[in-house]
Parts: sequence; structure tokens; C-alpha cells
Amino acid sequence: MIDVPASQALFDRASAIVPGGVNSPVRAFRAVGGTPRFMVEGRGAWLTDADGNRYVDLVCSWGPLIHGHAHPEVIAAVQAAAAKGTSFGTPTPGEVELAEELVGRTAIEQIRLVNSGTEATMSAIRLARGFTGRTKIVKFAGCYHGHVDALLAAAGSGIATLAHAGDSAVPDSPGVTGASAAETIVLPYNDLPAVEAAFAAHGDEIAAIITEAAAGNMGVVAPLPGFNQGLADIAHRYGALLIVDEVMTGFRVSRSGWQGLDPADADLWTFGKVMGGGLPAAAFGGRTEIMGRLAPAGPVYQAGTLSGNPLACAAGLTSLRLATDDAYAKLNATAEKISTLATEALSKAGVPHTLATAGSMFSVFFTDTSVVNYDQAKTQDVAAFRAFFHTMLDNGVYLPPSAFEAWFVSTAIDDDAFEVIDKALPLAAAAAASAR
Ligand SMILES: *Cc1c(COP(=O)(O)O)cnc(C)c1O
Repeated sequence: MIDVPASQALFDRASAIVPGGVNSPVRAFRAVGGTPRFMVEGRGAWLTDADGNRYVDLVCSWGPLIHGHAHPEVIAAVQAAAAKGTSFGTPTPGEVELAEELVGRTAIEQIRLVNSGTEATMSAIRLARGFTGRTKIVKFAGCYHGHVDALLAAAGSGIATLAHAGDSAVPDSPGVTGASAAETIVLPYNDLPAVEAAFAAHGDEIAAIITEAAAGNMGVVAPLPGFNQGLADIAHRYGALLIVDEVMTGFRVSRSGWQGLDPADADLWTFGKVMGGGLPAAAFGGRTEIMGRLAPAGPVYQAGTLSGNPLACAAGLTSLRLATDDAYAKLNATAEKISTLATEALSKAGVPHTLATAGSMFSVFFTDTSVVNYDQAKTQDVAAFRAFFHTMLDNGVYLPPSAFEAWFVSTAIDDDAFEVIDKALPLAAAAAASAR
């Protein structure tokens, strides 16, 4: 591993006063070891760290930056908005424009803007409970929906605990009460018979099923054909709602998100990441019949001091307007090119792996088991990933620092960036082969 003294010094300072030295756990590199890179600049496909090292960025802020870093039009829009004032605590024109853009791209009739994906799923669940008058929620092992109490049960992303598949969930985190986890039924992903069985046992108590539109937080695991629609059918048969969480997939895999590739009759959807263009903005929405129950139109309370923030709306709207059919074609082609290069390098080096894709999201599982659920995702050779990750990093490619995360591409990846990736991959594959 190369020395990064400036990042290390910052990490030491941070660790003294911030738990674990970071403001979101996966940034700390715990899954891969080594010093987290403190980034000082992002431009196009590239990140620069505090030591002056440059990296091709395949994390893209965990998804939001489909146009790469500091896109000139996004920056100009944010600057123009900031010059007029940063927050008013009143309705603003930008919120209306962003909401219209989101509704125009999706099956949603009404939408509410919030600040993070966590807030979106938390609020969607409250609304589903308020609408149905029921308490239980069905979620899937390995799916991550933010750090909402009721959803921190067998969650993916930064949470590396065992799956507690069964019909009474064990919390992933101290501080999540047994009572809030007890209302959560955790089932294996891509298993409709398990969902049928849960509804047969508890159908009149279940308010909603929540599922990632395509799972991206245990690595990428696409829903099997008909899975999402099957969830809608079962939920509706029992008077429950389906919440499709598009925080990761939304406006990344197509102009309307996963629903553009694999539509299902969901009742509520959640969005975040891409729709904020790199600033904090997220949303949840659905049919007017349901959304109309939200305060002040209805009794289900939900609010936010900075919701619909003018800077975030400007960044999100500009970013979405740049997200044309051409941009999606480029994202798809870029994802295909990088994932092909990665599998070729790993095959050549004899490293067992499985490429998993969901639109332009993909991940490489370091296992030769095909992966349709969390248990299979966990068969990975994590040591091989660690060696692979660090060799990529030392050779100028910033991958997600965990084997259980999606790789994200941007339209900013150009020939120079491809060349760096192409040179690094065989070295990383060789390192993975010797770490097995
Ligand atoms: C990232 C993510 C969230 C949480 O969003 P935050 O903005 O980090 O709170 C929720 N659901 C999914 C599917 C995500 O990928």
C-alpha cells in the first residue's frame, strides 16, 4: 500500500473527535483496512486526495454523480441559487420545478421532498402505516433502506452482521428496540413463496412490503423476473402496500429509474442520490389517494426545516435535465465496458467471481456461486476482494471499499480514465489470485 501521510494525519485528527473518524461508517475502510482517503477535489471522472494522488472514481459519492464531479452546469446552477439566498423556510419555485420533473419521469402522482434517503423510507413507512392502520413491515435480508430503526434488521450496506431471516427480526444495532424490530418481518430476497407464507400468517397486520427496486446494497442483486410485480400482487391481495425503494436505482438506471426497465404496480416509491445532483435531496411519492394523507393535506405528520432546499433543488433539477437518453446510453456503455474488463482480468488470473448487473449498476462478487440473495452474496472471498481493492487504489482507481457494494459509473469516464482502469485491473486480479 502506498503512503498517504496527509490523509493519515487528517484521519488521526478526525478519529480523536468523530467516532471512527468518519461521518458514515463505510467511509472508514474497516472492510478493507488501510487509511481512508480524504478527498480534496473532484473533477469529471477524477478525485484528488489530500496527498495529491488522483483516482478514477467508481463510487461517485455512492451513486448520485451520474455526470461526474463538478459538472459545470450543475455548479453554475448551485452558484446562481446560492447568490439568491440559501434557505427561506417558505415554498420556492425550484421545488415545484423539481417535483414536476420527478413526477414527469415516473408513475408517481404526488411527491414530497425530504433531505436524505433515510428520511424518505422512514416517512414512506409512516405513511403506509397511517394509510392502512396496520403496523408490520416486510423487508428483505441484504436490502438497505437507510438507518431507520424498523429497517435495521438484516440490512445490507455498512452493516456486516448475519441475516436473521425469519418472521421476527433481531435488530442489527444496539439502540434499535426489540419492539420496533419486532414489527419487521425479514425474508430472503427473491423468494416469493416466503412472502406468500408471511402474508398467510400475518396478512391482516402487514402495512407494507419495502424492497429495493433492484438490490444494490449487498452488492448488486437484480430482482428475478416478476419478483417486484409478484410483491405488488401479494401485498394488494391482503390490503397492504408495496414501497419500492429507488434511492439507488432512481434516475441512474434509466430516465425513470428501475420502473423504466421493470415496472411494477407499487403504491409508494422513494428516491434520493441522483435526484439531488450531489446535494442533500430525496423524495417519496405515489398515488394522490395515499400521498393526500400527509400533513397538511391529511393527518400523517411529516416535515423538514431544510426540505426542498433551493441549492439542492437547483443541483437536482440541473442534473436531471442533463440526464438525457444519450446520457443513459453512455452510462450503460461505460458500465458494460468496465465490467467486461474486470471479468476478463479476473478470469485470466483464475479468480472465481460472478458479475452481477442491474442496468448500469454492477458489482463483482468474489465467488463462483450465482447470487440471488444475501446468503449467496456472503459466500464471497473477502480477502481476495481486499487485495483487489488495494491494488486498484494504489494504481489510481477508487472502488467502493467493501465487497458488498455496487460500482458506480459516470458519463465523465473518458479514454484516459479507461486506460487507468485497464492497466490497474490485471495487477489487481493477480493480487486477488495470490490472496486466496
Ligand atoms: C443510500 C440508500 C438509502 C439511504 O439514503 P441516505 O441518503 O444515505 O439516507 C436508502 N435506500 C437505498 C436503496 C439506498 O441505496
